[in-house]
Amino acid sequence: MTSSMDGPMPSSSGVSERMRRQRRHNTGPELALRRELRARGVGYRLHRRPLTSLAREADVIFRGAKVVVFVDGCYWHGCPEHASWPRANARFWRAKIERNRERDRETDRILGDDGWTVLRVWEHEDAGRSADRIAAVVRRRRLSQT
Ligand SMILES: [Zn+2]
Repeated sequence: MTSSMDGPMPSSSGVSERMRRQRRHNTGPELALRRELRARGVGYRLHRRPLTSLAREADVIFRGAKVVVFVDGCYWHGCPEHASWPRANARFWRAKIERNRERDRETDRILGDDGWTVLRVWEHEDAGRSADRIAAVVRRRRLSQT
């Protein structure tokens, strides 16, 4: 990702912690999901670009099945259950989160047009249930290709 962080400085340690987390790979929810996927025996790769022309990395990718998974952080991607808008510099942060959401939808559209199945998982979701859903889609796609 190349998004710059210009703008107001974070006003609290909570916000700076969230900023740090935004672009970090291998977050707790990601690791939990991968553990559950491994347990289901579906092979995957990590942190790849589905399309070389598109500067977006999927968190988990099943290239053969053309399935990608994004684990969306509740805060940065505006989870309806956990969106807690910061009070300081509210407009700036809100705009940033809105941009992230637009970018997510754009990513889904571009990849969908190219034949990818895009699955999004909220970081708050149960990893086992998410892995069930993902594994089912991947197996279906793999079957339909043989
Ligand atoms: Zn959430």
